[in-house]
Order: sequence, then C-alpha cells, then structure tokens
Amino acid sequence: MHITDIMRGGTPTFSFEFFPAKTPEAAETLYQTIRELETYMPHFVSVTYGAGGSTRDLTHELVERIKATTKLDPIPHLTCVCHTEEEIDGILQRYAQSEIGNILALGGDPPRGLAYDKKSDFFQHAVDLVKFIRRFNDSGAHPDPRGFGIGVAGFPEGHPATPNRLAEMDHLKAKVDAGADYIVTQVFFDNRDYLDFRERCALAGINVPIIAGIMPITSMSGFKKLAELAAGARFPAKLIRALQRCENDREMVNRVGVHFALEQCHDLLDNDVAGIHFYTLNRSDATRVIFDSLGIPRRRDAQLSMG
Ligand SMILES: Cc1cc2nc3c(=O)[nH]c(=O)nc-3n(C[C@H](O)[C@H](O)[C@H](O)COP(=O)(O)OP(=O)(O)OC[C@H]3O[C@@H](n4cnc5c(N)ncnc54)[C@H](O)[C@@H]3O)c2cc1C
Repeated sequence: MHITDIMRGGTPTFSFEFFPAKTPEAAETLYQTIRELETYMPHFVSVTYGAGGSTRDLTHELVERIKATTKLDPIPHLTCVCHTEEEIDGILQRYAQSEIGNILALGGDPPRGLAYDKKSDFFQHAVDLVKFIRRFNDSGAHPDPRGFGIGVAGFPEGHPATPNRLAEMDHLKAKVDAGADYIVTQVFFDNRDYLDFRERCALAGINVPIIAGIMPITSMSGFKKLAELAAGARFPAKLIRALQRCENDREMVNRVGVHFALEQCHDLLDNDVAGIHFYTLNRSDATRVIFDSLGIPRRRDAQLSMG
C-alpha cells in the first residue's frame, strides 16, 4: 500500500524493522519473530539493506517472501553504496513487479572490511536516489499510478558527516523537495531531540510525517554495540544510571531497557508522533512487551500465515 494511504488513518503508525538473516539458525529466529509480530498487524515492516555482497539478495528475497506469505506490508531499504544506475533500475523493476508499495531511500553505510571509493557510486547522496525513484515513478512502470511511496532518513541528533546543522537541514529538505513522502528517524533516547527536530523541520518547511525510530536496550553488549553503530547517539544520564544499577543482571537490564523505551513511546504518543518504528533486531520479545503495554488496539485480526 502506498505510504500516503497507510498514513491516511490519522492515528500514529506502528512499524517494525528486520534485517535479513545470514545463517539458517538466524533465519529460523527471524521467521519466528515475524510470525509473532504479524499478529500485531503493524502498518508496515521494513527490511534493511547491506553494504554490498550477497546479503543484498537476501533483502530482496526476504521482502518478497514477507509480501507473498504474510499479511504484512514490507518496505525495502535501498542505498546508493556500490550501485550503478542500471542495478538500481533493475531492483526497482523487480520490486514494482512484486507490487511493493514503498522504498526507504538511503545514502547507505560504507561496506566494512572492503576497499570502497564513494566517488565510484553513481548516486552520491540519498537525494539522488529519491530523484531517480521519482523518475521511475513517472515512467509508469509501477502498478500503482503514483509509483513507489518514498521514505528517507532523518537524524534528530544530527548526522556525524555534517556537523553544520543548518546545512544538514538543507540536505534533508532537498530530499523532501525531491519527492520523499515521509521521514524515519535514527534511534534516539531523549524525546526532546525528536520534538526539537520535528520543530526545526517545520521551520524549514518540511511538512511530511516524521516517524520516530525506537530501539529498546536489551543487553549491555547490545548497548555498547549500538553506541558504535549509531555513531553520535546520545545516551541520557537517566538511562545510563538505570543500566549501571543492574549491569550484571541480564534479565534486569532487559527490563530496564524495555521500560525506558516504553516511557519514550508513551511520551511520543502524548506529543502526537506520526508513527513509531521499532528497531526489533529480529527479536519479538521487547517489542511485544512494549506494544502490549501501550494499550493500542489491534488493527484487525490476522492469521499466522508465514511458511
Ligand atoms: C531509518 C534508517 C534506516 C537505515 N537503514 C539502513 C540500511 O538499511 N542500510 C544501510 O547501509 N544504512 C542504513 N541506514 C544508515 C544510513 O544509510 C547512514 O547513516 C548514512 O550515512 C546516511 O544516510 P542518509 O540516507 O541520511 O544519506 P544522505 O541523505 O545521503 O546523507 C548522508 C550525509 O551526507 C550529507 N549530505 C546529503 N546531501 C548532501 C549534499 N548534496 N552535499 C553534501 N552533503 C550532503 C548529509 O547531511 C549527511 O551528513 C539507516 C539509517 C536510518 C536513520
């Protein structure tokens, strides 16, 4: 379904993010998670895209499998990194044929452990990818006359590559002006960052929905890894203090992290958030606890269908 139809309900959207599994065991966990979360009937689920190599095909396959075997609406991530124009066109053709409604268009993380020259990428920034998808949409190759709905990334705390926050906002505005329909934010732990970002977007004339990215901390190792991966993420003293109190008790760390994320979600809902996007890390437990505690009615009954 096109994102503008998904968002039309007027109530906040709820969505879950998965990454493609690389081993049979990880795939089993992922499909179990998808089965468990399917019953919550999120407005959409999204599937991340690797920086290169075989995991990229896994993204396409997972997206198509979710589309074909569940009631979920998958949104693939697509990045500029290590891609030619022809490759991106081929991927869009394939998704259009599979009736995928939306794409999250991203700059992309550089591949790890591989020599990489960004200058060799046909698309230098996400805005170029957004423009290309818009042209693809105009070509009429998608079964929906509007083509793909287009999402882009936003960084409430700022993106590390652009310390100039005014210039950064100009870059975000360029993506929206080029045709992005919505923004999904990087994970954040202080809602004031999201609310201030939303206000700054409004001042810049960015008027598309801004979906908040939420990731519950479920382990100390995950916490430290996140600090590494989401470079620049700020962890409020309140969260660090709470985690430090119980850092040697795995179960308690999980509860503290989930509770913190739940409080964030309640506060975001009180502040008319457009949507909440859960970074699930392919596990359902934390997301289910939060969802069940938010008191959100299920959208409609769903039968488990993923094979
Ligand atoms: C919701 C979300 C999902 C993500 N999913 C994935 C994923 O699946 N796979 C993956 O590899 N990565 C993913 N990422 C990470 C993301 O690709 C990186 O953080 C990337 O560095 C930024 O992506 P972007 O789309 O904002 O890129 P861009 O919009 O291209 O911005 C990247 C940087 O370049 C600057 N910039 C933009 N335009 C210009 C310009 N014209 N001139 C100069 N500077 C410019 C921006 O200010 C920013 O600092 C995700 C991030 C988010 C928030």
